[in-house]
Amino acid sequence: MKTAVEIETEEQAVKDLEGQVALVTGASRGIGFAVAERLAAAGARVWICSRSTETVERAKRELSSKGLSVEGDAADVSNAGQTRALMDKVLDKEKNIHIVVNNAGITRDQLLMKMSEEDWDTVLDANLKGAFLCTKAVVRGMIKQRYGRIVNISSVIGVTGGAGQANYAASKAGLIGFTKSVAKELGSRGITVNAVAPGFITTDMTSAMSEEQQEAVLKQIPMGRYGEVRDIAECVHFLVSKAAGYITGQVVQVDGGLAM
Ligand code: NAD
Repeated sequence: MKTAVEIETEEQAVKDLEGQVALVTGASRGIGFAVAERLAAAGARVWICSRSTETVERAKRELSSKGLSVEGDAADVSNAGQTRALMDKVLDKEKNIHIVVNNAGITRDQLLMKMSEEDWDTVLDANLKGAFLCTKAVVRGMIKQRYGRIVNISSVIGVTGGAGQANYAASKAGLIGFTKSVAKELGSRGITVNAVAPGFITTDMTSAMSEEQQEAVLKQIPMGRYGEVRDIAECVHFLVSKAAGYITGQVVQVDGGLAM
């Protein structure tokens, strides 16, 4: 009988995305980095972006040290000009984009009473408008090739709400509405659009929470552990694969049972 490690190694070796081009936003670290790594390991030509050249280059070096060749550039997805420039560069080099993972996201937590307009706008612009800009830039090409896979990284907070997170929850709930609407628009064109709603995943974003907050969340997770970036990357890999061709407009919660 094969060991779990042997099965995992075989799965990693399957190059089911060969010949496809994928763009993963906000991939200098955390979930986006893990998604980029997973898709590249599956044979996709992966492009990444984050806000600074330095972090993009560091991520590329790190992936390259794992034998994965990934392209990338700095782009703030909330900025229409920078997003357009990035997309033009990718399309110029690759001709087509098959997969887009709208992962870039930030938090600016604050109770509503104290939340500034700037904190509201900054979070909505990065998390929601960013997905709109990136998706809009690729759909024409996807329609022409009659194939596309779009995955938006939402959050369980977009489903349940979260005290102190009105801006973040609104952006992530907005992504769910965006996902379903675009799925309806593009379903007949061979393009699927889905959302992944992670629960509590150990990354830089969640390490900003206090130990007390982290312990309180842990108590609510039926599976008794925080998620790992790999848990999200595997789900995204499935959703962008040919195997998931009849799944669209869905929100897949990857949260160890936290929100059900
Ligand atoms: P992270 O802070 O570790 O990484 C975020 C990445 O996005 C970084 O590479 C950052 O540079 C990039 N980024 C941020 N704003 C950007 C912008 N305007 N333009 C381009 N790049 C930008 O966060 P993470 O925990 O890896 O989260 C990734 C996504 O998953 C986010 O959308 C987040 O909301 C979502 N999410 C995370 C968790 C969790 O528990 N970590 C839970 C639910 C949802």
